[in-house]
Parts: sequence; C-alpha cells; structure tokens
Amino acid sequence: MTSLGYEKPTDPARSALMRRVRQTGTKAEDDVAAILRQSGLRFRRNVKSLPGSPDFANKTQHWAIFVNGCFWHRHQGCGRTTTPTRNRDFWLAKFAANVKRDKIKTRLLRALGFRVVTIWECETRTPTKVRRRLKALMR
Ligand SMILES: [Zn+2]
Repeated sequence: MTSLGYEKPTDPARSALMRRVRQTGTKAEDDVAAILRQSGLRFRRNVKSLPGSPDFANKTQHWAIFVNGCFWHRHQGCGRTTTPTRNRDFWLAKFAANVKRDKIKTRLLRALGFRVVTIWECETRTPTKVRRRLKALMR
C-alpha cells in the first residue's frame, strides 16, 4: 500500500515513464507555439504572474492557454489516458489532484476575465484542430 500523494518516484519504471511523458508535453507546447505564431497571435510562455502559470497567455487580450498532457491531466475518452496497474493508489491520488488543480486554475482565470483554452497533447498532432480551438481567442 503506498501512501497517498506526493512521494518522489523511486522505482525505475515509474521514473522512466514520468520522463517520457514530460518530454512529450514539451514537444506539444512547441507545436502549439508554432501554430500561435502562424496565426499571428502574440503571446508569452509560462506566464507565472497569472493563476496556474498558463503555458501561453496574452494579458492585454485576456486569454490563456494550457497545453495538457493527456496522461497527466486525464483527457477523457483518450487512448493515452491510461492508469498504471502498479502503485495504483499513488497514481489515482496524483491524477485526482491534477484534475482538481486544473479546474481551479481555469476558474481563477475566468474570474479575472480571461478566455481559457485547454489544448490536449493528442490534438497537437492535428494543427487544424488546434487552429479551430484558437479561434475562440481571436477577436
Ligand atoms: Zn488525448
């Protein structure tokens, strides 16, 4: 039985998995950055002065974007949203905390008058999908 929550990963398989997933996230963010540039949207990355440090934001235009890894942030109905069978309690607690944090971030930003778009990692493979989502930010 693992303790709930925030322990550091220790077993090699889990560490490898975390590393792999994190790298994919970074690539997804780069893809979104490229599409934002093509769309002529101006932005800053990792905006720490806003709730939840959005991956991309424009404070003047009041919009923020989160690029979420499907695995970590639990993209519903997505094939990447798997749950490891080892240390299941650890993972379930971690995922629940991530999802809760995501909801709070979005709520705080909306309360500040921001339009918030979440782009899932799997969607970044289809630039037309991403562009369609970004239309909500263009006015
Ligand atoms: Zn997905």
